[in-house]
Amino acid sequence: MSLLVLKFGGTSVATIPAIENAADKVAAEIKNGHKVAVVVSAMSGVTNQLVAYCTEISQIFDPCEYDAVVASGEQVTSGLLALALQKRKISARSWQGWQVPINTDIVHGKARIESIYAEKLKSSIMQGHVAVLAGFQGIAPDGRIATLGRGGSDTSAVAVAAALKADRCDIYTDVDGVYTADPRIVNRARKINKISYEEMLEMASVGAKVLQTRSVELAMKEKVTIQVLSSFEEAAGSDLPGTLVVNEDQIVEQEVVSGVAHSRDDAKVTLRNLPDLPGVAARVFGPLADAAVNVDMIVQNVSPDHKNTDLTFTVPRADLPKTLQVLKEVSKELTGMRVESSADVSKVSIVGIGMRSHVGVAQKMFTVLAEKGINIQVITTSEIKVSVLISEEYTELAVRSLHTAYGLDHGS
Ligand code: ADP
Ligand code: ASP
Ligand code: MG
Repeated sequence: MSLLVLKFGGTSVATIPAIENAADKVAAEIKNGHKVAVVVSAMSGVTNQLVAYCTEISQIFDPCEYDAVVASGEQVTSGLLALALQKRKISARSWQGWQVPINTDIVHGKARIESIYAEKLKSSIMQGHVAVLAGFQGIAPDGRIATLGRGGSDTSAVAVAAALKADRCDIYTDVDGVYTADPRIVNRARKINKISYEEMLEMASVGAKVLQTRSVELAMKEKVTIQVLSSFEEAAGSDLPGTLVVNEDQIVEQEVVSGVAHSRDDAKVTLRNLPDLPGVAARVFGPLADAAVNVDMIVQNVSPDHKNTDLTFTVPRADLPKTLQVLKEVSKELTGMRVESSADVSKVSIVGIGMRSHVGVAQKMFTVLAEKGINIQVITTSEIKVSVLISEEYTELAVRSLHTAYGLDHGS
């Protein structure tokens, strides 16, 4: 017997037939003799609709009430899946974040899980009941519902798997694994059988939405084996090997570049005419951090006259209104500063552990983009990743060209 956590994403619970299909997968694992905890997302499109209701009232909203609204989607699917399991004569109960409880920090809207009190949950599972947990949510220190940021049900699933010391965390989604690029954009993308935590972490953090970044971070820390697999294939679990996310040492062959990812979730902000003095960056980024805005790419040029300079950075597109509001306050102190912003950008990245030991990888990326006439606005690098910010209209062209150039195309 193994203890498994199965997570079903939005498309896997999008309709009642889809929920019935998910219930069949759970039933198959129980028949195989496993104990099961299930984590569900909201029905596909529901969270977007709930977010849109909030922004229709105001672009800048109280994150506490936003959480009360957007967490409701998962409550519905947890109850529906429990009903579908009961119909199959399987004892099942839904669990909301506060009922477990899953304790988070206070950052409403993008809270982090701090602890899970799993005793009650585990004893219920060990008594043979299937626990169907609402993903994406927990309870904050203020006693209110908190959500974990978009895509957060993946993190709920990994956190529950870690707390229960489960044998595996299966993430059921609408693709049958992690690919060398988003298969919706690159139809020649290849399925990866095993990917290292490090590469998956980078892929997720630069836009491969198949797993939320924090879920990979947590899986790496807590040594949870993740499998990404399709809920639309007939088989279930280990009979249907999807992509395993594992330690680097379990991977025999290593490509220089393992994948190309893109994100349209960023916005670019440029601050012009900033005083070129020590402490100015802190005066800009401090208030943004206080407002829980995550700044990603940053470039600043040395000013020719050592008086004024420009600073460009990116923020999540959904946080642009809040960012501009914060910068309005900052500009009262930094007189003369001008703020420009654009949401018409995308970030394209190449990721691969092989970059540690190969030179010229980034150079190839710049050459490929230049040959396609694509202008690079900002560049950032890490040990195993290069990201460029480009005009959004060239996203597909850039991703496909890079995918081909690094020899990742199916059959190449
Ligand atoms: P779910 O609702 O199941 O959580 P998501 O939409 O969050 O599903 O994630 C699955 C999607 O991630 C796929 O439909 C695919 O378009 C996208 N995706 C982006 N990059 C990749 C990649 N490298 N491999 C697989 N899927 C990817
Ligand atoms: N329903 C939430 C979202 O759409 C969480 C998730 O699906 O993982 O972001
Ligand atoms: Mg998701």
